[in-house]
Amino acid sequence: MAAYSQYQPLALADVPQWDFETDVAVIGFGATGACAAIEACTGGARVMLFERSSGSGGASALSGGEIYIGGGTDAQKAAGFDDTVEAFTTYLKLAGGPCADDAKCELYGREALNHYQWLKDQGVPYRGNFLPGKHIEPTDDSTLIWSGSEAAAPFCHKATPAPRGHVIQHMGWGGGRPLIDLLEARARDLGAQIHVDARAVALIVDGNRVAGVVVRIDNQDRFVRAAKGVVLGTGGFVFNDAMRAKYCADSFRVNSPIGDKDDGIGIELGVSVGGDAIHMDQFFTTCPWTMPEAHAYGVFVNAQGNRFINEDCYHGRVTRCAVDQPGGKVYLLLDVAHFVQPLDLAGITIAATGETWEEVEAELEMPKGTLSATMAVYNEHAREGRDPLFDKQVPILKALDQSPFIALELNFETSYFSFFTLGGLKTSADGEVVNRAGAPIAGLFAAGRCTSGLPAWGHGYSSGLSLADCTFFGRQAGRKAAQG
Ligand SMILES: Cc1cc2nc3c(=O)[nH]c(=O)nc-3n(C[C@H](O)[C@H](O)[C@H](O)COP(=O)(O)OP(=O)(O)OC[C@H]3O[C@@H](n4cnc5c(N)ncnc54)[C@H](O)[C@@H]3O)c2cc1C
Repeated sequence: MAAYSQYQPLALADVPQWDFETDVAVIGFGATGACAAIEACTGGARVMLFERSSGSGGASALSGGEIYIGGGTDAQKAAGFDDTVEAFTTYLKLAGGPCADDAKCELYGREALNHYQWLKDQGVPYRGNFLPGKHIEPTDDSTLIWSGSEAAAPFCHKATPAPRGHVIQHMGWGGGRPLIDLLEARARDLGAQIHVDARAVALIVDGNRVAGVVVRIDNQDRFVRAAKGVVLGTGGFVFNDAMRAKYCADSFRVNSPIGDKDDGIGIELGVSVGGDAIHMDQFFTTCPWTMPEAHAYGVFVNAQGNRFINEDCYHGRVTRCAVDQPGGKVYLLLDVAHFVQPLDLAGITIAATGETWEEVEAELEMPKGTLSATMAVYNEHAREGRDPLFDKQVPILKALDQSPFIALELNFETSYFSFFTLGGLKTSADGEVVNRAGAPIAGLFAAGRCTSGLPAWGHGYSSGLSLADCTFFGRQAGRKAAQG
């Protein structure tokens, strides 16, 4: 038989036998795969889902279960926020920055309220209440939080801010597992045939059309005919060092990849049949510096003592900008009024203290008049309620003038900078994998972190964008695949 692998598809003529026959073969049982399977079943297709682990989940089950939804949900209205489709769509595009896919932003902007209803229809519970403040995930069972940079510049000047992080009702962190359990139950109820311990290793092609997939089960290759299409929902490539070295070298500046196995195979499979992989250099990263929340009042400086960001942005945007700074570390400056011991897990240490900012500067061995000048300028303007350099907004803009003063060190090597990749296959808003000319590859669909989707730009990431992308565009891919 001809050689085949994730880099080399198998020709239909060389398939020895068909072990499985279905309309739609979904690869991966995270949020993307589950939603694709549900929609493909709803569309009347026979669906088989192949998952390499022994059960559903992937990174999705490890997540907070937070989904970015806007445009005027019940929870937003109840909390007094008058969000609109226009403001929401504008924010989605801003969050995507130079990598934004306008068609996806516009479609999701229009459809997010329907998607929210769809999630509820699948049984996902939302308490509908808003938890004010800056949170990474709700610590109670609240279901709406600020989860991005909406209220910070430049976003707040271009799109009316509203909280849009909708979290499954669940006590404490970790709503991803119950979210996936509900989606799994729904996919099973609708008749999707689930095969676990089944790893996709190559695509099967009939000329230019993807006609199936080779799946390794019990160490044997099984040949799956997918009459209508194959949907890839295999996650990103954060645990594949070779791919990261090739495409996303900046991610080596930080140290804690998060996710499931995320080996990038879905991207390689798509590329093996002519798919385009885009924005492969993009990654999300965050060091949990806003826990405790009081730290958002602090000022970040780089190793030269210069500010580089308005600190009221989303923690991930601030962290991503921090990682761009030279010197392998940044400092979070606080006065005693805003200092709280950082979480142990963050690995953030106290680098210097002093009765004046000059003393802190000296202890950090920075040249005289660097950090101290930064703080003098910042405090002078903060007292006037403005930040002419970075446009940090009131009320988080406060002078840091109550001694003693503290410099916390966020070290890229020793502090906890979690990260995952954002680049992947280029897809249409319908979930079709497209080639470099922009034409769909017949029979191949993909969504979630093996694609480049709503969360396309690390500097603009907002919590909930990835699961919004996985669940919504996973549905799009499943629906389109079922149409054949
Ligand atoms: C701790 C944590 C918290 C997070 N919190 C949030 C949050 O609250 N909101 C948010 O939007 N994002 C969050 N994220 C990010 C988000 O969870 C992921 O980006 C998203 O879940 C990816 O979903 P996916 O369906 O693309 O991939 P996954 O959920 O990883 O699913 C991929 C599945 O494919 C399977 N697979 C891979 N290769 C193969 C193969 N060859 N054959 C068969 N199966 C295969 C994998 O085993 C896996 O089950 C969080 C991430 C982490 C790690």
